[in-house]
Amino acid sequence: MNDNSQYQFDTLAIRAGQERSQFGEHSEALYLTSSFVFQNAAQAAALFAGEIEGYTYSRFTNPTVTLFQDRLAVLEGAEACIATASGMSAILATALALLQSGDHVVAARGIFGASQALFGTIMPKFGVTTTFVPGCDPESFRKALQPNTKLVFIETPSNPLTEVHDMAALADMAHAVGALLVVDNCFCTPALQRPLEFGADLVIHSATKHLDGQGRVMGGAVCGAKAPVEEVFKFMRTAGPSLSPFNAWVLLKGLETLNLRMQAHSANALELARRLEKHPAIERVFYPGLPSHPQHALAQRQQSAGGAIVSFEMKQGRDAAWRVVDNCKLLSITSNLGDVKTTITHPATTTHGRVAPEARAEAGITEGLVRIAVGLEAIDDIEADLQRGLSSC
Ligand SMILES: *Cc1c(COP(=O)(O)O)cnc(C)c1O
Repeated sequence: MNDNSQYQFDTLAIRAGQERSQFGEHSEALYLTSSFVFQNAAQAAALFAGEIEGYTYSRFTNPTVTLFQDRLAVLEGAEACIATASGMSAILATALALLQSGDHVVAARGIFGASQALFGTIMPKFGVTTTFVPGCDPESFRKALQPNTKLVFIETPSNPLTEVHDMAALADMAHAVGALLVVDNCFCTPALQRPLEFGADLVIHSATKHLDGQGRVMGGAVCGAKAPVEEVFKFMRTAGPSLSPFNAWVLLKGLETLNLRMQAHSANALELARRLEKHPAIERVFYPGLPSHPQHALAQRQQSAGGAIVSFEMKQGRDAAWRVVDNCKLLSITSNLGDVKTTITHPATTTHGRVAPEARAEAGITEGLVRIAVGLEAIDDIEADLQRGLSSC
């Protein structure tokens, strides 16, 4: 399948990039090998010199990993993609490949906890500073830009409050100071949102989440134009946070059902959000697909559906939130997301537990907040599991 342009998303997610080996295997081949054998010394020399293309060592490239990268690039509408061992190594590789001492980053305050820690505590050791911007008003981001700003880093929708960022506005202002807009597209995946179409320069994935979709493997990816992705690749092949071929193979199987799953997650999540919004013990429900969401119109422009994450704030704070969590028998109490199994977590004491209390308050992560990553179980069973705790509040 070489001409991708004639096919639609679902077809590409199942078939893009596959070339069969001499055996004609129907499922994608898994090349579980660390190195590759050369025909002779001259071929080895030519490969190492970069004069011919081919595989040498799986820290650099591996055919199964390449197929995953190529297919994800097609789905994101990107020229290139590099896969990594985890979502965090995708973000680390991007930061270390594209930034140097003296550079500045503007990041949304509401990004993933480990991403906050990476930019807030690790990158400063290498002379890279970050300004964290609360909320999603583009004007606040504009004020934070400096002449040495090289990256603007966001997640949209954000975790756990599902704040929606205006990607086109942020891309324009980043480009005006020569910076790149980097979007962590973990919550939507290319099935629901393609940030490059709105002017983003790089898309980050924690493939661990929806791209796998069934909680099996860790993985990550960086997609975008050839030039910056090549820089990330050079860092990755030297530093080594490469994706295992086995994980790439599992992720390829995940991509085959990505759109179907994202549509089903979104339908379940929207229905749950609607039901929770009516509950007297709940102060507020956060879901981009609800008309009550402050950026509902923007979300509808950028996303084809709302995604799996629904958060809500209990009127009676932490005790009530913990009661809802502790009364669940079906939902998994875990901070992971992007799985067919529904998960429930109390962000203030788990995913955001190590964020400084002031920063947490600034990000709006209150003690009464509960986050649900809505899976694919029957919606009535999910609701009934939550009702037990809710009705006791
Ligand atoms: C989980 C997650 C990450 C980190 O991914 P890992 O695969 O766990 O390293 C980054 N960003 C977001 C939004 C996430 O949810």
